[in-house]
Amino acid sequence: MRHLADVTALRDAYDIVIIGAGPAGMAAAAEVGGRGLSVLLLDENQGLGGQVHRGVQASPLAAVPPLAAVPAAGRALAAAALAAEVEFLPGATVWHLDAARSLGVSAAGAARMITARRVIIATGALERPMPVPGWTLPGVMSVGAAQTMLKAQALVPAGRTVIAGCGPLVWLYAAQLVAAGSPPALLLETTPRANWRAALPHLPAFLLSPYARKGLALMLRVRRAVRVVSGVAALRIEANHGGLEVTWPGGHAAADHVLLHQGVVPQINLAQAAGCTVAWDAEQACFVPRTDAWGDTDLPGIAIAGDTAGIGGAEAAEAAGRIAALEALRMLGAIDIAARDAAAAPHRAARARWLRGRSFLDALYRPAAAFRVATPDAIACRCEEVTGAALRDAARLGATGPNQAKAFLRCGMGPCQGRLCMLTVVETIAAERGVDCATIAPLRIRPPVKPVTLAEIAAMGSTEAETAAVEGR
Ligand SMILES: Cc1cc2nc3c(=O)[nH]c(=O)nc-3n(C[C@H](O)[C@H](O)[C@H](O)COP(=O)(O)OP(=O)(O)OC[C@H]3O[C@@H](n4cnc5c(N)ncnc54)[C@H](O)[C@@H]3O)c2cc1C
Repeated sequence: MRHLADVTALRDAYDIVIIGAGPAGMAAAAEVGGRGLSVLLLDENQGLGGQVHRGVQASPLAAVPPLAAVPAAGRALAAAALAAEVEFLPGATVWHLDAARSLGVSAAGAARMITARRVIIATGALERPMPVPGWTLPGVMSVGAAQTMLKAQALVPAGRTVIAGCGPLVWLYAAQLVAAGSPPALLLETTPRANWRAALPHLPAFLLSPYARKGLALMLRVRRAVRVVSGVAALRIEANHGGLEVTWPGGHAAADHVLLHQGVVPQINLAQAAGCTVAWDAEQACFVPRTDAWGDTDLPGIAIAGDTAGIGGAEAAEAAGRIAALEALRMLGAIDIAARDAAAAPHRAARARWLRGRSFLDALYRPAAAFRVATPDAIACRCEEVTGAALRDAARLGATGPNQAKAFLRCGMGPCQGRLCMLTVVETIAAERGVDCATIAPLRIRPPVKPVTLAEIAAMGSTEAETAAVEGR
């Protein structure tokens, strides 16, 4: 792997550009390297690893045995990517992707446009918002953000920490805090009890999955060290004499930090900006891009691998990265169909094995509607400070979905461009209108999908062909 210093080192055109260096992106890079193609790997982080293997190259936790987080499989995958003949620009944010496979890349304060014959989007997941009253107060953050601080800076919250929400990451992070000697004071579990009924038919498959034993062990470890309140059906956070007060039906607690989480959802903004078709996934309660068995979208040359194509976890993401890479090699003439199919077979089997328990997790940890819909006094869109009440008013006045709500309220038009609030806006409008989310169109995302300064765009050089296109010559 050749590390590039900045955008000036980029070529104008690549055979393959992989966006995201998590398990899916690293696996794709390892697969396509050394086949005589020009390959570029981009990630806005400074190193390889993605969310799950963050710090695989250099971790401040390496000297803390119970937390020396990256497992052997993650280290092996990173080593394979490092050994691959590809270029890697770390700290590079992709803020533009279109159907012609032009990419806008920004790194170290400079931007550049490049093109690719094949693009593999492997941008992973982001946390589903949990828009309860008080979720934007100082001292309240997401579990994922807190875990990022642990993995990247070896930081744990000081004082009384309350974790509230549901999903595997809640238990994983609580267990990490216990291992760090800084257990949370309280865990408020919001998994609706009724979810068990929907999840039970999938239990046998989950028990056969590699996640079952790991998950149960984590929960036991946490329950031994932390007070857990289950079945929490409502939550309110208020500022209180310099601290925080968390209230739920039947209880309240003082806290210095409140960490919220209710699962992760695909990060689809680049796919949407390019024009890939996305559809509502009722099981995972989120929008998911439409992809085929090779990760290909309905746009020629653009594939999606890993959690961006639907939440499946790190190991399934790795397999999906290899499968998408093999199809890219086939499309670019580096291998034939028979070689592609033969090489993909073990990765398909591995992916199926790792996805075995997914339906159980999806059904059990489906967040309660009460936590997906913004209550009237909760902020739904943080960038533009739009409340649940304002969204309901807009829906009553005729806003049928997030695209109309933009015109009414500017929600989804701030720096996040709807990346964080879209699901809350869709669920809140759907609830007010009494319709299924599947009937609501997702936001039309326009570049830049991530903030880039005007100075960077103004300073971008343009080729003679681009200038001619803009001037209509
Ligand atoms: C906050 C958070 C914490 C998580 N922690 C864990 C954990 O501890 N254990 C676990 O098993 N699972 C965890 N998960 C789930 C885990 O992310 C996935 O199952 C797995 O990492 C998916 O791999 P991936 O390759 O699809 O994506 P990721 O590992 O998420 O990698 C995606 C990469 O794309 C990059 N990226 C995104 N957008 C852009 C862009 N526009 N330009 C450039 N680069 C971009 C990101 O920086 C990231 O490195 C976490 C998820 C989240 C959201």
